[in-house]
Amino acid sequence: MKVSVCKERPILSPCGLKDIDFQVDTYIGCEHYCYYCYALDQAETDWSREILIHKDIVDQLSREIVKISPQTIYMGYLSDPYQPCEAEYCQTRKVLDLFLQNGFSASILTKSDLVLRDMDLLKEMDSATVSVSVAFNDNQTRELFEASTVNTEKRLEALRQLKEAGVKTGALLCPVIPYITDTIQFIELLAPYTDVVWIYGLSINDPSGQNWLNVKKILKRQFSGISEQIESAIFSKDHRFWSQLRNELEALKKDRQLNLNIHL
Ligand code: SF4
Repeated sequence: MKVSVCKERPILSPCGLKDIDFQVDTYIGCEHYCYYCYALDQAETDWSREILIHKDIVDQLSREIVKISPQTIYMGYLSDPYQPCEAEYCQTRKVLDLFLQNGFSASILTKSDLVLRDMDLLKEMDSATVSVSVAFNDNQTRELFEASTVNTEKRLEALRQLKEAGVKTGALLCPVIPYITDTIQFIELLAPYTDVVWIYGLSINDPSGQNWLNVKKILKRQFSGISEQIESAIFSKDHRFWSQLRNELEALKKDRQLNLNIHL
């Protein structure tokens, strides 16, 4: 993987998530290269070959954060802060260290257990949160849609260790792909290690976008018998697949008193 330095641009940017005003992407691009990724249409490089980093991220970001009060910053919106090159480049660790020194905290979303490396910093922060994103119950299917990510078992183990260490944990069950993702089974696996689980279906805003072209190719090749059924559910939120799943999840939430945020 080629890692190049990008032209200087703001690092801290507004965040549209509830209760969080700012986000930081420590990388521009994402080696995980999930074929369904909503950020693919904004890719500045071919993510299978080249990722961009900020030149001296600590120096620049420290000049940006002095303009705002200490608060929680989101990390993981357009790229994974723990994609493989983080093991060598430590951009995320440097930013967490800067946040800690300045009274900031972080809310992280990742698909990698590399986050465990930074547990020392996360434990020291005021209410840091780590959420792990999962979507595929078996690793053969995962490899079809996101070949460069770590397996689901490692992500669950990361959640277990984080929770045991007292870090707030969450899971993003996303994207639920109709007739492929076993959502209920996932909830059972995630519940012991998470304070909250958000559930989102595969959302395709533009049928001519790169993510849908990728997913459609995988469905035709690997799920030919049910690909039309899957496609009709993906493009209709009124499809009975979603109503049945919503009902099952609402029942599970009530019966088990789980903190599920259902966005299907
Ligand atoms: S880990 Fe997230 S940002 Fe990276 S490719 Fe996958 S979906 Fe996109």
